[in-house]
Amino acid sequence: MPNNCFFDIEAKGKPKDLKRFLKHFIYDNGVERKTYLARTFIDGYTNSKEYIIDKIGEIEKEEVFISGWCAWSCWSCWIEGYPNKKECITMGDLCKKYVIEINAKSEEGLMGFEEELAVSKDGYLTYEEIDFVEWKCKKCGVIQNFPKGHREDDSINEICGECGENKFERVEK
Ligand SMILES: [Zn+2]
Repeated sequence: MPNNCFFDIEAKGKPKDLKRFLKHFIYDNGVERKTYLARTFIDGYTNSKEYIIDKIGEIEKEEVFISGWCAWSCWSCWIEGYPNKKECITMGDLCKKYVIEINAKSEEGLMGFEEELAVSKDGYLTYEEIDFVEWKCKKCGVIQNFPKGHREDDSINEICGECGENKFERVEK
């Protein structure tokens, strides 16, 4: 069973290009185009048509917010790993094709990492992987990994898997 990596993409481009871009994701009915983003799923929609109807307001404003999931990581599905030049296109090439600019974030809870990825309009890609931060339960002392998010203090909104307490302190490295 692959781990699911959940992503949020902010994509900017011309409405007609955004619509084309959205046809390269995988919906409940499966793959729609000869080339598509490998193992990149948007759940709850039969096909891209349905999704585009739902997102038309954002599309017309030339900025669409896409939430979905990849198997393993965005890196392996969009950059290196599954893209094979035949069926599976890289995110960089897809953005270049339709002149789309994206900013994406992902979170994988099992292995414990986050990704940040951006593609500029000319296809220039930046990528960063960030490991989850370690937190120590103030009650039982068990160390657990949670996403860094924007939390820099010890007031994270998580429950200890061991004892159910919700107070943690960051483990300094
Ligand atoms: Zn605890």
